[in-house]
Amino acid sequence: MPVFDDSATPDTSALGALRDLAMDLSIRWDADNDAIWRAIDEELWTLTGNPCLVLHAASRQRLEATLATAPFRRRLEALDAERRARSAAPTWFGETLHGGPLRHIAYFCMEYMLSETLPIYSGGLGNVAGDQLRAADDLGVPVTAVGLLWQHGYFRQEINAAGEQQALYPVNDTHHMPVRPLYRADGSLVRLRIVLPGITLWIRAWEARIGRNRLLLLDTNDPANPPQIRLITSELYGGGSEMRLRQEIVLGIGGWRLLREIGIEPDVLHLNEGHAAFAVLERARHYMHAHAVPFEVAMAVTRAGNVFTTHTPVEAGFDRFPPELAAKYLRRYAEQELHLPMQALLALGRRHADDPDEPLNMAFLATRCSGGVNAVSALHGETSRRIFTELFPRWPEREVPIGHVTNGIHVPTWIAREARPLWEKAAGAGAWSGDSSAGHDDLAAVDDAALWALRQATRRCLVEFTREHVARSIAIRGASVEQMEIARSLFDPAALTLGFARRFATYKRPNLLLADPDRLLRILNDPQRPVQLLIAGKAHPADTKGQAMVREWAEFSRLPEARGRIAFLADYDMRVARHLVQGVDVWVNTPRRPWEASGTSGMKVLANGGLNLSQLDGWWAEAHTPELGWGIGDGEEHDARWDRADAMQLYDLLENEVVPEFYERDDDGLPRAWLARIRASMAQLTARFSADRTVREYVERYYLPAARQYRERAGADILELTERLRRREALAAHWHDVRILDWRAETVDGRHRFAVSVHTGAVDPALLRIELYADAVGDAPAEAVPLARQTGQREGRHLRFVGEVPARRPAAHYTARVIGALPGQQVPLEVPQIAWAS
Ligand SMILES: *Cc1c(COP(=O)(O)O)cnc(C)c1O
Repeated sequence: MPVFDDSATPDTSALGALRDLAMDLSIRWDADNDAIWRAIDEELWTLTGNPCLVLHAASRQRLEATLATAPFRRRLEALDAERRARSAAPTWFGETLHGGPLRHIAYFCMEYMLSETLPIYSGGLGNVAGDQLRAADDLGVPVTAVGLLWQHGYFRQEINAAGEQQALYPVNDTHHMPVRPLYRADGSLVRLRIVLPGITLWIRAWEARIGRNRLLLLDTNDPANPPQIRLITSELYGGGSEMRLRQEIVLGIGGWRLLREIGIEPDVLHLNEGHAAFAVLERARHYMHAHAVPFEVAMAVTRAGNVFTTHTPVEAGFDRFPPELAAKYLRRYAEQELHLPMQALLALGRRHADDPDEPLNMAFLATRCSGGVNAVSALHGETSRRIFTELFPRWPEREVPIGHVTNGIHVPTWIAREARPLWEKAAGAGAWSGDSSAGHDDLAAVDDAALWALRQATRRCLVEFTREHVARSIAIRGASVEQMEIARSLFDPAALTLGFARRFATYKRPNLLLADPDRLLRILNDPQRPVQLLIAGKAHPADTKGQAMVREWAEFSRLPEARGRIAFLADYDMRVARHLVQGVDVWVNTPRRPWEASGTSGMKVLANGGLNLSQLDGWWAEAHTPELGWGIGDGEEHDARWDRADAMQLYDLLENEVVPEFYERDDDGLPRAWLARIRASMAQLTARFSADRTVREYVERYYLPAARQYRERAGADILELTERLRRREALAAHWHDVRILDWRAETVDGRHRFAVSVHTGAVDPALLRIELYADAVGDAPAEAVPLARQTGQREGRHLRFVGEVPARRPAAHYTARVIGALPGQQVPLEVPQIAWAS
């Protein structure tokens, strides 16, 4: 391995620079900058786009000869200088937040979609994680990400002659991936161990680089492990419940252990989905040992620094483990390492602590052990507050402590090269970088002809990609040379092009467009106004319904009437996605509301001038206005009986609005109304749905408060912390005593005056807060108004509280409630007690 071993290389500096470039995932390689890789191995580069492979496969003579040429050296030096300049350049975080309470964030996720050369992702979740890491690097936010190095990743898809999906599992070879083994300062390889009952699990560690930040990846493919253990990190989302539990132990417990092992001490731990929730336990364990405090105190301190992002809109989407299974793997860890009875660990992940049958729910565990919880779009926030009311019984849904940060995509990753100059013209150098603080007004500096030229160029690229992709796919199935020639002439670079790519899961309704196949064919085959449809997507190998839908599309696309109008592009991955989102005119998405928590694929078309035609769900429910694109559905939730109505609406929109608007041309041949729509969509939505905006929001609204609160608690005296815990426990233990005895209202001089009597039982009244509460009614917002202790009362267990509000709404809108009031603790996230006037 000459390339990866400096001592054996002919020219350390040049080759070192080359290797650093190959390894840095913050760089996007395309025709603007990929000449160095082409110069080394044109064919391999064209086939794989994999710089590590190109470097690794080249002979020493070849590398030496290439490095010896002046143009190559100049290009290499320029790229190297650019990379160094970028990592030294001032950033948003560095200029505004450096030196503050937020120092380092650990980001945990089961999958990362950063490059097709690092195939450790399945789809949406990995996309969110990958794009956020890139944006964090752009913004200078100090993050270390943690994930698993999947030996086989997610399956690769092929469609066979019968139209059936074949799941293939090629091996991920680390020599050809932008990762390197992690070493300690003393030169030894980092290997961690987790002791499970009867077995010790050895974990290896790797690092990938995203600009200034790192992604650390764990795997169990260590020769010291027995085969079943080596296979824990084999398949992403493969295997049953026990396999998933093992994977989550490696990710959560192993992940935090790794950070500490190599000396990283984050103040914020961001759990991107509940898979990694065991990290909160391991974080508490480290704190416990470092500060010699009991688990409860360690958890009370560290939880403040944990942030949990939930991604599923349905309860069934939460990972759950049967209590016996959880105990089998975690009892020893709980009792010997956390000094916690297994019951207490299970209780953290249960709705009812004492229900012996209730499974361990990873989303509940994450919520109970975090200082901030969020959903991924406004609508998903509402849905999540509804699902999580279980953990906050009797709280109004709107006060369930789950906010939202709408997802966004990393614009520089998904924007077409051809679109960049246009953004620069409109909004200045680097405007396409997705800097969400830049105003894009209405892209007034870009004229219609230039905008249309962009659309024409990117659509042509997509048609060429499609032809090649289809020709290759049929060649694999044994097509003749003639058939391949025909495939290379199909599809029309000028026709309205719809793109439709997603996981083939039932809720995504990937076959909604097939509700009336004849009508669809009529739309596609209109001779004056032809339409072409490009489809891609994988169905999980255990999802037979999803696979049936893949077959339905594959068969449909092979009908003679669909020829040159529909292509099913096998093996949906980043590469296919990039071509699609850059070239399509319209992106179609048809989930069943509210199941698409956010969705990100539709955001990727924005900067490229693509438009969205989608269900009013996830991000699109937030973004859609009639001048920006098209919405389907009525904004309500329905079951499968409504699918047909949605399908008809989709066809109607295509026939009556989308197709006519695209083909309505003026004397210059320009579709002016269409272009006006593109302009509005690009200008208004691109920055709003960028990962740049998302990461800034996480920093300002979640990471910073979490870091502050964590530091406050970590700095507090142990006696003070213990006292806080004691008060919280006392409140919980005696809460059943607390009730509102009666309450009265009178209206005097335009003000409602309220008096509330409360029985406080054994609870210290100082720990209670009495409030008037009114729900939102019509224009009147929800209100919670604190009441004060009436002065001059005798101390006792019955206390009166009084207060008044302006009589802007009927007194009957109000009721009274009692909640906990523990200074420095979050209500209701940490203190969920509440009692209402009956
Ligand atoms: C963007 C992307 C996704 C996410 O798509 P949604 O349908 O919005 O969830 C999934 N897979 C790939 C390959 C992507 O590029």
